[in-house]
Amino acid sequence: MEISRLKLSGFKSFVEPAELRIEPGLTGVVGPNGCGKSNLLEAIRWVMGENSPKSMRSGGMEDVIFAGTESRPARDFAEVVLQASDSEGEELEVTRRIERGAGSAYRVNGRDVRAKDVALTFADAATGAHSPALVSQGKIAQVIAAKPTERRQMLEEAAGIAGLHVRKKDAESKLKSTEKNLERLEDLMAGLD
Ligand code: ATP
Repeated sequence: MEISRLKLSGFKSFVEPAELRIEPGLTGVVGPNGCGKSNLLEAIRWVMGENSPKSMRSGGMEDVIFAGTESRPARDFAEVVLQASDSEGEELEVTRRIERGAGSAYRVNGRDVRAKDVALTFADAATGAHSPALVSQGKIAQVIAAKPTERRQMLEEAAGIAGLHVRKKDAESKLKSTEKNLERLEDLMAGLD
């Protein structure tokens, strides 16, 4: 998957709508301390479905909404749009929006979807909020110190099979409820004999 564009509005320090074109090849973000470089990486993670406020350096998820300054009032919502193309060249536009008191909502190509659908879309493309391709400060040390099970998770994500685990779990729980239904049916049929 190739990310081509990132649009932010009201997300952390990006109070005004901002749009970034991401060209093929290596992208570097430079700027003085505290100008929002890490916030950009966090925006990519967030739109991909990150749900841990800690990894957003926030106390709660609503903290990603612009909190206001002495001269500017706080915003009521934050929105991040990520445009990308998959390996077949198909265009993908994912939007995540959070409103104070209302939580997050996701859209893929203009259609309302669940957080889980977004996570699966990215997992199938061997990327996602926890992808090792998104290297934030301290990440290298974390990879070196990772336990074998954590390293395995990274490899599975890189191989694009992480989504299969989610689908396996879904299938197993469907199988279980079907087995229960069958048992119930057998009981009912025994009662008819
Ligand atoms: P460094 O080079 O020091 O790592 P950086 O360029 O990566 O800095 P960030 O950490 O991305 O900068 O941005 C930090 C800035 O974002 C701080 O000025 C902080 O006040 C601002 N910020 C974070 N969350 C919010 C928010 N919810 N509302 C307004 N500003 C915010």
